[in-house]
Amino acid sequence: MELKIHLVPTGEIVLTPSKDGGCCCTNCFKVVGSEGARVTMESALTARDRVGVQDFVLLENFTSEAAFIDNLRKRFKENLIYTYIGSVLVSVNPYKELEIYSKQHMERYRGVNFYEVSPHIYAVSDNSYRAMRTERKDQCILISGESGAGKTEASKKILQYYAVTCPASDKVETVKDRLLQSNPVLEAFGNAKTLRNDNSSRFGKYMDIQFDFKGAPVGGHILNYLLEKSRVVHQNHGERNFHVFYQLIEGGDDDLLRRLGLERNAQQYQYLVKGNCPKVSSINDKNEWKVVRKALSVIGFSEDEVEELLNIIASVLHLGNVQFAGDEQGNAQITTETQIKYLARLLGVEGAALKEALTHKKIIAKGEELVSPLNLEQAAYASLSLSLSPLKAVYAGTLVQGRTFSWLVSKINESLAYQDAEYPGRKSAAVIGLLDIYGFEVFQHNSFEQFCINYCNEKLQQLFIELTLKSEQEEYEAEGITWEPVQFFNNKIICDLVEEKFKGIISILDEECLRPGDASDLTFLEKLEDKLVGHAHFVTHKLADGKTRKAMGREEFRLLHYAGEVNYNVNGFLDKNNDLLFRNLKEAMCQSENKILNLCFDQSDLTDKKRPETAATQFKASLAKLMEILMSKEPSYVRCIKPNDAKQAARFDEVLIRHQVKYLGLMENLRVRRAGFAYRRKYEIFLQRYKSLCPGTWPHWNGRPADGVATLVKHLGYKPEEYKLGRSKIFIRFPKTLFATEDALEVR
Ligand code: ADP
Ligand code: MG
Repeated sequence: MELKIHLVPTGEIVLTPSKDGGCCCTNCFKVVGSEGARVTMESALTARDRVGVQDFVLLENFTSEAAFIDNLRKRFKENLIYTYIGSVLVSVNPYKELEIYSKQHMERYRGVNFYEVSPHIYAVSDNSYRAMRTERKDQCILISGESGAGKTEASKKILQYYAVTCPASDKVETVKDRLLQSNPVLEAFGNAKTLRNDNSSRFGKYMDIQFDFKGAPVGGHILNYLLEKSRVVHQNHGERNFHVFYQLIEGGDDDLLRRLGLERNAQQYQYLVKGNCPKVSSINDKNEWKVVRKALSVIGFSEDEVEELLNIIASVLHLGNVQFAGDEQGNAQITTETQIKYLARLLGVEGAALKEALTHKKIIAKGEELVSPLNLEQAAYASLSLSLSPLKAVYAGTLVQGRTFSWLVSKINESLAYQDAEYPGRKSAAVIGLLDIYGFEVFQHNSFEQFCINYCNEKLQQLFIELTLKSEQEEYEAEGITWEPVQFFNNKIICDLVEEKFKGIISILDEECLRPGDASDLTFLEKLEDKLVGHAHFVTHKLADGKTRKAMGREEFRLLHYAGEVNYNVNGFLDKNNDLLFRNLKEAMCQSENKILNLCFDQSDLTDKKRPETAATQFKASLAKLMEILMSKEPSYVRCIKPNDAKQAARFDEVLIRHQVKYLGLMENLRVRRAGFAYRRKYEIFLQRYKSLCPGTWPHWNGRPADGVATLVKHLGYKPEEYKLGRSKIFIRFPKTLFATEDALEVR
């Protein structure tokens, strides 16, 4: 008969008959023997050694990074991509399809305790769902990791798990459909092929899934963060613009393209050729277009809305192809009338007004309008043939994309909004939030975008520290356990460095953006140096004693992030933070007959005397809001790791992984978890499992479970420093104590 060794995260070894030769989970090992045969501890332990431990807390050498990585490697080799640190799930991108996401797998995790099955994203999903149902408390699942680590895939798997396993009704089916279909739409408009990931999300996303009192998903709400707008006009070598442009060109039918004035050839469009990468082998733009078109209908976009949306998308491409030349005075003139004709029609604006807007600059000074022609030299681009278009249309193009994307999200939110038919206005019973947001980024060249992204990660780390430590502490308190707090690096000092009022980097940047006159990226850097020199986490080429640090560039500042050092080049910081659209372009957009643009640009943009908030300040405010949302919920964590830069299966690049382990703060996480009590179990469960080890508790214990456990551990010889008895649980400090008890169970 075939038996299986079933390993569970406590290190328990359970033998179960193998059904149909199939496997009950990814951690089972078949052992052949006669019926009734006992598997030797030795073979069980060999198997355990081969696959490593399912919870890093069980590592003997838990402070050793080498042991940590070794455990990850062992498991990765066996296709075991999931491992816990307590309740935190660590996931390594397998870069291949694994047979672990079927409906049967989902069923296996339904309503089952975390520790009874092998680690899985479904276990985390189910755990949050059950906690929400039983405790009626909002949950959130925070997914982090660098680009390509598998965050978006993880969030999709969670959503699919709820779509399949939650109770259903006709109405719920519609909501489930819409929730699922929001992904292809957002990905078309917000994802792109980058060097790191063929389907890289270029925006941060937080999604609430709302559940009713019966536990059925009834609605959703999405918040989006900082779309990488600059991609609309510029892509690095080997990268693409947002998917939707290529999908439309490849998949749109002939009539549609004719109406939009587009050719079925991405090479024709300036905004699509910068990365020299129109086709990607892993992407079928034509098919994706069909998926997106269908998804738009399912979500409830009307035909008119889709048309207006596509008019904007096509306009961006036409804008990119507008060319300029200088007249005798050197003033910019548009030389491409066809583009203007299409633009005027698609955007519903006057051609003349658009031309004027693209070639002139209008400012209001002391209540008076000043219109001046732009000359070609004003553009930073030296060559005439390069044209002014990057300078001007950039602003139009990026703003259109940014605003259109926000419109898209708000439209999806309308469609997902929960409406209780019987009790209008009634809110959903509880929500589970999913956060899929950019991880820490360190490139050769880091700019404003990396600055914002890494600041976001500092905030999330801060939240992580507060919530993990807080929840540990709360549990000990609730159970009446005395506990010595663990030392950890609190990154609040770095958050403050970035965001503090008046003194922080964002404040200093805003100040320079507002200052008339000679403000520039370099004066911004000087201000930073003046105000921040000597700060433990801030470095530039200037030393406190007036000397210069040779290793640093003159246009750079370095931040010592919790995850490591990053040099930021200040070039472009002011422009990107200002994110201004020239007034006359704004006017042109306000006059547009396109309904979406009309909603995106309203007259108050023109009449408002108040300066719009800068990009960094808006981002800071939206992060503060996000932190508030997350703080009000019970968090679970998924930490994603990318195994190699080649997007290849079965390649475990140790240097790359070590780096991620470091900046995800996993060793620290483990230390915190181990500093307290590695294991905690309800008295009933502990007693049930080990009662056979003590004559006093076997076969039945008739008193209170707590007393039974006290009798049991006394008999087992647990030393006082090894455990504590709380109100409802036993807390065991070291895994080896539990191992020994497990072994006793086996050899008995
Ligand atoms: P991120 O959102 O972290 O940038 P993605 O979730 O888009 O990364 O993952 C990048 C790619 O890696 C996916 O397109 C997919 O090919 C692969 N991938 C990620 N997670 C898994 C998984 N669990 N199973 C199989 N392939 C995966
Ligand atoms: Mg992603």
